[in-house]
Amino acid sequence: MSLMRSVLLAASQNKWLRENAVNYPFVRRSVSRFMPGESLDAALGAAQGLAQKQIASIFTNLGENVTDRAEAAQVTQHYLEVLRRIHQSGLNTEISVKLTQLGLDLSLDFCFENLEKIFAQGKKDSIVWVDMEASGYVDATLNIYKRSLTKYPNVGICLQAYLYRTKKDVNDLLPLRPSIRLVKGAYKEPPEIAYPKKQDVDASYFTLAQTMMAAQATGKCVRAAFGTHDVALIRQLADHAVQSGFPKKDFEVQMLYGIQREEQEHLAREGYRSAVLVAYGTYWYPWFVRRLAERPANLWFMARNLFAS
Ligand SMILES: Cc1cc2nc3c(=O)[nH]c(=O)nc-3n(C[C@H](O)[C@H](O)[C@H](O)COP(=O)(O)OP(=O)(O)OC[C@H]3O[C@@H](n4cnc5c(N)ncnc54)[C@H](O)[C@@H]3O)c2cc1C
Repeated sequence: MSLMRSVLLAASQNKWLRENAVNYPFVRRSVSRFMPGESLDAALGAAQGLAQKQIASIFTNLGENVTDRAEAAQVTQHYLEVLRRIHQSGLNTEISVKLTQLGLDLSLDFCFENLEKIFAQGKKDSIVWVDMEASGYVDATLNIYKRSLTKYPNVGICLQAYLYRTKKDVNDLLPLRPSIRLVKGAYKEPPEIAYPKKQDVDASYFTLAQTMMAAQATGKCVRAAFGTHDVALIRQLADHAVQSGFPKKDFEVQMLYGIQREEQEHLAREGYRSAVLVAYGTYWYPWFVRRLAERPANLWFMARNLFAS
């Protein structure tokens, strides 16, 4: 892991920065590249723009590590409202939730109860995605995911290619007919549990993606979605999908709002399923700094905003 990435990932957890950096106008201007605004209305506006380009959307209300029951219950109510608004709008929009925002740090059962309320309101033809957080949460997240799948088939999980364990996790999940979003992984993890070199993460991603596509072809994986901006990898996977006889609409790529916009549109124009995760909310600091860590060149973009102020 590069030193800069390491420093930024440590900064993403810093309480002082979280409370203070968000007040600087140049930081707020920089974050606007990755999110259309802090409100649900801003996210709905962005989703409408994406829909005009045949790009689906996924909403996430930023927040994590909630330690207060009332706040986790409030987040749950917010997502119920989000599902109502999506339904009203007729948009092709799903949601993606973080379990620590729904009370995972408080109790597994409490978190599951909150999640169940959300599933109960979800539509049958749309998935509620569950994000994967730092490695200390993987077991609990998979536990809740497996519990959920036995009652609610329309729930998807995010898995991280940088973890050595993910190959086994995919194989354990397949008999349950999961939906999986595969990502490289965004947290600071030690080499004992995660590939430290980018080339190994990329190789792991490709192998896991092939397993997921083979499972999708035989109905063992309901939806295999690839959450990445790595255009070379996406092209390799798209070629593999076409060679394996996949209908284009069954090859799904999910990206983050504001990143690789041209490729998002290109995929949609080509007939693949292109979806964009639209984040919104006021608790954006740790999420934003993880985006900086993914591409330290983004710091130049932030510096330009500083000098433009
Ligand atoms: C839809 C979606 C959901 C996600 N959910 C999770 C999750 O639940 N848990 C989790 O751990 N991680 C999640 N991630 C983040 C993921 O783990 C990676 O950290 C992130 O996607 C960067 O890796 P990459 O696959 O794009 O490849 P990289 O090899 O990092 O990047 C490939 C190229 O994409 C571009 N790029 C990548 N990131 C950025 C950026 N921030 N700014 C500008 N350009 C960029 C650059 O051109 C770069 O060269 C999610 C990502 C997506 C797209």
